[in-house]
Amino acid sequence: MKNEQLLLIMAERILGEKAANIVTLLLENDELTDEAISRAIKLDINETRRLLHRLFDLNIVKYRRIRDEKIGWYTYLWRITDSSPEAIIALRKKRVLEKLKRRLEYELDGPYYYCGKCNTRYTFGEASSYMFMCPKCDEVLSPYDNSKLVEKLEKIIRQLEETPP
Ligand SMILES: [Zn+2]
Repeated sequence: MKNEQLLLIMAERILGEKAANIVTLLLENDELTDEAISRAIKLDINETRRLLHRLFDLNIVKYRRIRDEKIGWYTYLWRITDSSPEAIIALRKKRVLEKLKRRLEYELDGPYYYCGKCNTRYTFGEASSYMFMCPKCDEVLSPYDNSKLVEKLEKIIRQLEETPP
């Protein structure tokens, strides 16, 4: 598979069709401003910019900015990254792992309590300050068993760490 196709598939899988449209457009053009991209794919400018920044976070696109001397504003010129798809995938994996580990840490930082009526979760500190009653519905809070979730998170993290980049 060509590198370009890989970038396109990643953009589509992670961010959806609109992001894939941006990548297609940039693959056909050398460099474009966010306004030009917005017009070409008929997408609202703020949504276009949001997707461009998400694509930048994933290392799929990059930009350079030039300053308009007259009005003093910056123009951003976007293009496809020079990074290899392997590097992009490795970065993505690193980010996902960081996120999963933060979530695991949070889950291990219990005990937690929850309200069976509104499904809100509380930390021990919160629950005890509410006298173990939900402040929203006046229901008695139950201990929240997250052992299954912890197990699942640990398994996913292990699997991700074991697969080669
Ligand atoms: Zn409640």
